[in-house]
Amino acid sequence: MHKRILLTILIALVSFGGFSQVRQKELFKTVEEYHESFVSIDSHADTPLWFLSEDYNFGERHHPEKSSNKIDLPRMEEGGLDAVFLAAFVGQRDRTPENYRNAYDKAHRIIDSIEVVAQRHAKKAALAVNPDDAEKLKAEGKRALYIGMENGFPLGKDLTRVQEFYDRGVRYITLSHTKNNDICDSSTDTVEHGGLSAFGRKVLAEMNRLGIMVDVSHISDDAFYDVIKLTHTPVIASHSNARALRNSPRNLTDDMLKAVAKNGGVVQVCVLSDYVKEMPRNPERDSAMSALRKKFRNFKNLTAEEEAQARHQWQTINKDYPPNIAHVTDLVDHIDHIVKVAGIDHVGIGTDFDGGGALKGVYDASELKNITAELIRRGYSREEIAKIWGGNFFRVFEAVVDYAEKVKEAS
Ligand SMILES: [Zn+2]
Repeated sequence: MHKRILLTILIALVSFGGFSQVRQKELFKTVEEYHESFVSIDSHADTPLWFLSEDYNFGERHHPEKSSNKIDLPRMEEGGLDAVFLAAFVGQRDRTPENYRNAYDKAHRIIDSIEVVAQRHAKKAALAVNPDDAEKLKAEGKRALYIGMENGFPLGKDLTRVQEFYDRGVRYITLSHTKNNDICDSSTDTVEHGGLSAFGRKVLAEMNRLGIMVDVSHISDDAFYDVIKLTHTPVIASHSNARALRNSPRNLTDDMLKAVAKNGGVVQVCVLSDYVKEMPRNPERDSAMSALRKKFRNFKNLTAEEEAQARHQWQTINKDYPPNIAHVTDLVDHIDHIVKVAGIDHVGIGTDFDGGGALKGVYDASELKNITAELIRRGYSREEIAKIWGGNFFRVFEAVVDYAEKVKEAS
């Protein structure tokens, strides 16, 4: 600890002493070396939403201001990002037979699109399903593309679909999204099941049995504690922050952070500004957004065409009235806090890029190394940063796979 304080003071002195440019250069050289030495992973990106449109090319560098797309292969490379969990995200709709069918079809369609992208860019990337795939692919100079399912809605009420999606490569499931489903309550909806439903308990057990990570981001506090009580494996929060620093139901309280630590799990901090820090509002933006919401009926039950229109208009508003967004240092405050409360072994990074994630200094994947630079500035060691950038996440992933193997052997 003393060493860390000393280093921080030293860096502060040096940067105020007129040597800042030299120091900055050295710092970024260290950042480069660090990223070479470990396997980094972003546990949550909604980039597959882009894969569904035909003119999108994952192998092409997109301009951060001209395109609202945040991740592509060139920018992963620039940002020193080796692996990413791509979300097969399906928004929650009313639980009608038709919507169940559509959600199930859409999840398959997104997974199809991820497979197509991986094949199209086979020289630079590949699909990954095992914890050690990322490391192997890095050695071959390739980026690892994992699949996570955001929202268990596509499972409907059919337990056999857990295995079905496992067989398609899904390695975590975020149990709910912003609304309740048949599995559990959402952190941003009213109480329906009071936590996990009876079906949700079965889904959890099935995920444990198969080796699918349980993602507690988005689920209600009661559902979180049910999961912690019932799971046989460590959990992940694929994109959530600390509620003590930003009071949002999407973030974890200190008690929850401690519960994750006790469970052996990991909380992956998210660069979505609203979960990082409360920022001053932009009234022009707010009224444009509420008009958009009104026009598209709160984004509920939209046709595919309407959804595309809404997304396009949302991007235009973003361009015309950019939101006030928090800074990368605010994000690292969350890492500091989680380290303090839960320990260095229980924190990682899950950006939510292409799902709303963007901060000053981490606006897209090309700028991810700024997180590393800020961690170094605050005195974190290479070993600690390696844990944050993936060591902790892969430890959980391995534990989940190990448990499934043991269950299989015993049966
Ligand atoms: Zn999300």
